[in-house]
Amino acid sequence: MRTAIIEGDGIGKEVIPEAVAILDYFNETYDWGIEKVPVEVGFGKWERTGSAITDDDISLLKSCDAILFGAITTVSDPSYKSVLLRIRKELDLYANIRPLLPIPGIYKLLKIKDRKESDVDIVIVRENTEGLYSGIEELGDEKSTTTRVITKIASERIASFASNLAAERKNYLTVVHKSNVLKSDKLFLETCKETAESKGVNVSNKLVDIFAYDLIMNPEKYDVVVTTNLFGDILSDLGAALLGSIGLAPSANIGDSQAFFEPVHGSAPDIAGKGIANPIAAILSLKMMFEWMGKTREACLVNRAVAAAVHDKIITPDLGGKYSTKEVGDFILSKVRQLD
Ligand code: ATP
Ligand code: MG
Repeated sequence: MRTAIIEGDGIGKEVIPEAVAILDYFNETYDWGIEKVPVEVGFGKWERTGSAITDDDISLLKSCDAILFGAITTVSDPSYKSVLLRIRKELDLYANIRPLLPIPGIYKLLKIKDRKESDVDIVIVRENTEGLYSGIEELGDEKSTTTRVITKIASERIASFASNLAAERKNYLTVVHKSNVLKSDKLFLETCKETAESKGVNVSNKLVDIFAYDLIMNPEKYDVVVTTNLFGDILSDLGAALLGSIGLAPSANIGDSQAFFEPVHGSAPDIAGKGIANPIAAILSLKMMFEWMGKTREACLVNRAVAAAVHDKIITPDLGGKYSTKEVGDFILSKVRQLD
C-alpha cells in the first residue's frame, strides 16, 4: 500500500504533519506496511520551477493507492493551471464526499444554541467530473458560454456510489437538482432515481434552492445527498457551516481504485507560518482515509481523540483556544495512543 503525502502550501505544511504523525503511529504499531511517498506540487513549486505539477508527479500519484493532501494556493496567473482539477481528472476521482457530522461538544463550545448536534449527520456526495465544470467554454467580449454536461454513465456511477453509501446508513437518498429550469438535470434526476430504486434505496428529490434553505433550517431531514458538480461545490461549503468552523471539515475524492483525502479549507495565507492553524480537518481527513482502507477501529479511535481535544479545550484560536497546531496535534496523538 502506497500513500502519497502532499503537504502543499501555506497551512498545508503545518496541518499535514499532525495527521501524518497519527498515520505513522498506527503504521508502526500494527505493521500496516504503508509506504509514504512525499510529493511536492503547488504554488511553491511553481514559483521555483515554473510548473505547479509535472507529468512525473502525476505518474507518481497514479502509482499510489491513497493520497493525503493539505492545501495549495491557487493564483489567477493564466499560466498557473489548477493542480486539483488536474489530479481529479487524471486519476478519475469521480465522487467528492463531504461528511457533515459535528464533533461531540462543539456546539456547546462555540455557543451554538439554535441547533442540536444530533440533528446533523449528513453526507454530501458531489459528482466530480462533469456538469458546469466540464471545461467546455467559449469566451468572448460580448458573450461567454459554459457548457453543462450531464451524461447517463457519470450520473449512474455517482448515483450508484451514493446509493451504496445510503444502504450502509439510513437507506435514504435525496437527489438535489434544478430540473424544472435546467432541463439537463432531468437526465441526472431520472438516472439517480432509477439507480437508487434498483438497489432498494428509498429516494426523494429536492430543488437546489429549497434544499439550501432546508440544509441549514432542517438538517435532520437528510442523510445521504447526491448532486451535480457546481451545486455540490456550493452546498458542501454551506454545509460545513453546520460543523462550526472551516478548520473542522474533512473531505474525500474517491475513484474506483484510488482516493484522495483533504481538509476542505485552503492554504489560509493570512495565518500561514504562525503555527495556529487548526489541524482537526486534516486529522479527520486521515480518519476518512482509514475508513476507506477498511480500518474502522482506528478511524473510530481518531474520532474519539478529536472529541477529547474539544472536550478538554485543547483547541486552536479559531475555536477560541490558545493552543498551537502542534500542541493540538500532539494532544490528539497522545489520546489515540491512550485509547488504543
Ligand atoms: P486559498 O487561496 O488557499 O483557498 P483562502 O484564504 O481563500 O486560501 P481558506 O484557506 O479556506 O481560504 O481560508 C478561509 C479563512 O478561514 C481564512 O481566514 C483562514 O485563516 C481560515 N482558516 C482556514 N483553514 C483554517 C484552519 N485550519 N484553522 C484556522 N483557520 C482556518
Ligand atoms: Mg479559498
